[in-house]
Amino acid sequence: MTNREWAERDLRVLWHPCTQMRDHEDFPPIPIRRGEGVWLEDYDGRRYLDAISSWWVNLFGHANPRINAAIADQLARLEHVILAGFTHEPVVRLSERLVAIAPRGLAHCFYASDGSSAVEIALKMSFHYWRNRGEPARTKYVSLANSYHGETLGALSVGGVGLYRDTYEPLLLEPIVVPSPDCYHREAGESCAEYSRRQFAHMEQALARHAHEACAVIVEPLVQCAGSMRMYDPVYLALLRDACDRHRIHLIADEIAVGFGRTGTMFACEQAAIAPDFLLLGKGLTGGYLPLSVCLTTAEIYDAFYAEYATLRAFLHSHSYTGNALACAAALATLDIFESDDVLAKNRVLAARLGAAAEDLRDHDHVAEVRQTGMVVAIEMARNRQAREPYPWRERRGRAVYRHALERGALLRPLGDVVYFMPPYVIALEEIDLLARIAREGIELATRE
Ligand SMILES: *Cc1c(COP(=O)(O)O)cnc(C)c1O
Repeated sequence: MTNREWAERDLRVLWHPCTQMRDHEDFPPIPIRRGEGVWLEDYDGRRYLDAISSWWVNLFGHANPRINAAIADQLARLEHVILAGFTHEPVVRLSERLVAIAPRGLAHCFYASDGSSAVEIALKMSFHYWRNRGEPARTKYVSLANSYHGETLGALSVGGVGLYRDTYEPLLLEPIVVPSPDCYHREAGESCAEYSRRQFAHMEQALARHAHEACAVIVEPLVQCAGSMRMYDPVYLALLRDACDRHRIHLIADEIAVGFGRTGTMFACEQAAIAPDFLLLGKGLTGGYLPLSVCLTTAEIYDAFYAEYATLRAFLHSHSYTGNALACAAALATLDIFESDDVLAKNRVLAARLGAAAEDLRDHDHVAEVRQTGMVVAIEMARNRQAREPYPWRERRGRAVYRHALERGALLRPLGDVVYFMPPYVIALEEIDLLARIAREGIELATRE
């Protein structure tokens, strides 16, 4: 079978995520036969460097021998068992290890499958906590503009990316939306820390005004990934933790995309030396192998549900594949690699090379900003770089970069006009340089008038 044959069969029966299917009329989906490390190979024998970790999930490469072996080993013993009333070794071990490495105070793990489900869990748990504690008037969530927390209706409600949200607006909860600390909008000469601190005034005001009716604030620590990889300073998180404490509002840290070393530390919250009331993990949790997500929370919150059955205080929420044993085995193997290979130290070398490789794009006539947080580098194209005036979205300049990169053997998938690198942690230094060359060519092509 060739690429073409698989693509034709695909288009007869599939409907792809986040895709205008008509776009495939002139550019069919690419069928992948196998993966190894950072490389994907299609049915025509062409290879693609997976620069975006297959939607930010892959940490240690495709077909990683250690994760493969762990899953195979678990598969021979138990693939899955109901997690209500039953338990199993991988889920117990994984929970112990997550509690041990998570920021202080996070003591219990509630599992789901996709990231969006973990977001739903945190939203429901926070509301339910206040209800169990006799404060049922707390029914509102506070979220940031330009945030992203997933696609299910609750998660979409607290998201701020119009492209995904606006159509469904009539169906959604109405959060209290606060302007983002996103440093792209800082004044000339203003530091990111100063800007993030200045933007915090909006949050302080919102919390003071809505403390009586708010359950929780939900944020993506340090990087608003789906919101064009916009970044902000850790000082914002420190101020937010303090304000949430003063106003008695929960803090939900959605680290589904930024957890597991993406920002340079194991969890992004560490950079602000804070612990949230809820920590959400997904994506890289299984090294990019299997859908598993988790909502970690505190003993204080857990205890508010712990009572006689007849009080009806229990959290009666479940998903069929909660705590799947194969997924937990993959997650344990992923944590083993972090421990044995000193990944965070090695990533500092990779991050430095990523930054250096993108450095010369700073001077490009149509690049408004090159920004970086750890293992994420983003390059924002603009019509006018000084005025930060974007290209009209209909021109789809990012898509031209995407198509060029594929021709040159790289999977780059810009968010609008923002080209970014978020590679697996097993990328080689020369592969980073290759990626930067391909991105530069693509940006040059895409911004040519
Ligand atoms: C991807 C993402 C989600 C949703 O996770 P899914 O597994 O796609 O449902 C939630 N929050 C953040 C920050 C994400 O990047």
